[in-house]
Amino acid sequence: MPGVRLLVASSNRGKIEEFRELGARSGGGLSVEPLPGFESVPEFEESAETLAENAAGKAMHYGRGNLALVLADDSGLVVPALGGEPGARSSRYAGPEGDARKNIAKLLGAMTGKTGTERAARFVCVLALARQGRVEAVFSGAVEGTILEAPRGSGGFGYDPVFYYEPAGKTFAELARGEKDRVSHRGRAFERLARYLAEAGKG
Ligand code: IMP
Repeated sequence: MPGVRLLVASSNRGKIEEFRELGARSGGGLSVEPLPGFESVPEFEESAETLAENAAGKAMHYGRGNLALVLADDSGLVVPALGGEPGARSSRYAGPEGDARKNIAKLLGAMTGKTGTERAARFVCVLALARQGRVEAVFSGAVEGTILEAPRGSGGFGYDPVFYYEPAGKTFAELARGEKDRVSHRGRAFERLARYLAEAGKG
C-alpha cells in the first residue's frame, strides 16, 4: 500500500499514537498522522445512538474540504444484559465529565445480581473513512469478554479493569499494551481497514 496517508480526526494523543502503531504494524507505507487544524474546526457533537453514526458523522464533519483520507472512530462497551448499555454513551455513562472510575462504579452497580452469561460484554470499535466530506467506507471490530465484580489491573483506560478477556486469563488492564492492540476491537477494526486500503490501492 505505497504512500497511503491517513489523517486522524481526534484530539486524543493516545488514540492517534495507537493508530500510528497499528498503521506501522500493518506493513507497507500506511502513514497515520493527526488531522492538521483539527483543534480549530468546531467540535462535532457525538449525540447519535449508535457508534456507526457517530464515527461516520465525525469523519464527514472533519473530512470536509480535505483531499486526503480522514479517519474517525467511535468505540464503546456493549452489555447485552443491559440492553446494549453503555454503548454509544460509554464515555459519559456516569456523567458528562467522562470519569472512568465513576463509569465503572455505575456499571458494576447496574450489573448487581447478574451472573454467568448475563455478565457477557463486548468492546466495539467503528472506524469511518471520509474524503472531502463523504464517507467512503466503514469498518467495525469487536472483542468479547466478561464483566468482573471488581476491577483488576492498572493498565489501559476506561472499562479495561473490569473487562476480563478469557483467552488471556486477564483483564484488559492486566495486558501489556501490544498484547491488547493485537486482540482489541480497535486492532481488529483497523486490520480490516488496512486490508481494504491494500486491496483498493487507495492513497
Ligand atoms: P471514544 O471512542 O473515544 O468516544 O471513547 C468511548 C468510550 O468507550 C471510552 O471513553 C471508554 O469509556 C470506552 N472504551 C472504548 N474503548 C475502550 C477500551 O479499549 N478500553 C476501555 N474502555 C474503552
